[in-house]
Amino acid sequence: MRIFRFCLLALVLAFAATSWAQDDSVAVDRSQYASREVYPDPTAGPCEGEGHQLVQINGNLYRHVLRPLTGPSGLVLITSEGALVVDSEGTCAAQSVLDEIKRRFNVPVKYLILTHAHFDHIAGSQVFQNAGAIVIAHKNALEPIIGNKYPGAVPDRVFTRQMNITLGGETVELHRVAPSHSNSMIQVYFPKYKAMNCPDVCRGDTLPFQDLHDMYYDGWIETVEWILKQDVEFIDTGHDTANLPQQKVHLDYMISLHDQILALIRQGRTWEEMIRNVHFSDHVKKFRNFESNWTMNMLGMYRWVDEHHRALY
Ligand SMILES: [Zn+2]
Repeated sequence: MRIFRFCLLALVLAFAATSWAQDDSVAVDRSQYASREVYPDPTAGPCEGEGHQLVQINGNLYRHVLRPLTGPSGLVLITSEGALVVDSEGTCAAQSVLDEIKRRFNVPVKYLILTHAHFDHIAGSQVFQNAGAIVIAHKNALEPIIGNKYPGAVPDRVFTRQMNITLGGETVELHRVAPSHSNSMIQVYFPKYKAMNCPDVCRGDTLPFQDLHDMYYDGWIETVEWILKQDVEFIDTGHDTANLPQQKVHLDYMISLHDQILALIRQGRTWEEMIRNVHFSDHVKKFRNFESNWTMNMLGMYRWVDEHHRALY
């Protein structure tokens, strides 16, 4: 019996050590940024459309989404101990989400997770922080938030590889896979709901934004390959909802765009010659933003490939 108890204790301690080792988050000394300069907040004005509203996904999991449009959006977990919100999406949006959570569920927002340091996703973060939420981001998010003088919250806590949050008996996992759509990008996983918040690097039936600015190609591919291996049925892309088959189409699209442009550059072709020589699948041509984005996507990929190869000399 004593041996059994010892083994059980050793097992529990080993498990605790593993969980602890996975969470490498650290507190940020926010006092050093107390008098930092910030730009005026362009998202403080009246809400767009009908403002942000909560839409139930499954059980305690919701999305906050700009209605009646399709985005921007983020996941929200409601528990008896408080709520966890992913991305604030603007000051007006954040205030409406905070008010709706208070009105419908009468719980405080305990955590705000920032998926990456692009202003369209993290504007309004100060609304939740001022209401008592702990703001969490990847460590690489700090530099652009401060350097770009973003009017918003300085995160309370940052992590490097992984962070786990337990709230009201629910678990949320924050994963850093690789630099992808940004070098501050993280994925937020809700295991009980098989749901992932994966803004911008995950796609529905849409092409990536404009000229793929802030892209890290290798990490983008690594991230989508990682997503494809997860037990995920529902993805919030920060703009639309999506699923794994759509991520596979997107992965194939990015690899094909990269490989075609690399082959053309190796043939000595110029940027001008890309237009007639890069081909897209019929599936991709049907994406609703294909006409507006394909040349910009091609330009972004051309720049990446041109800067990341060396020829025979
Ligand atoms: Zn972004």
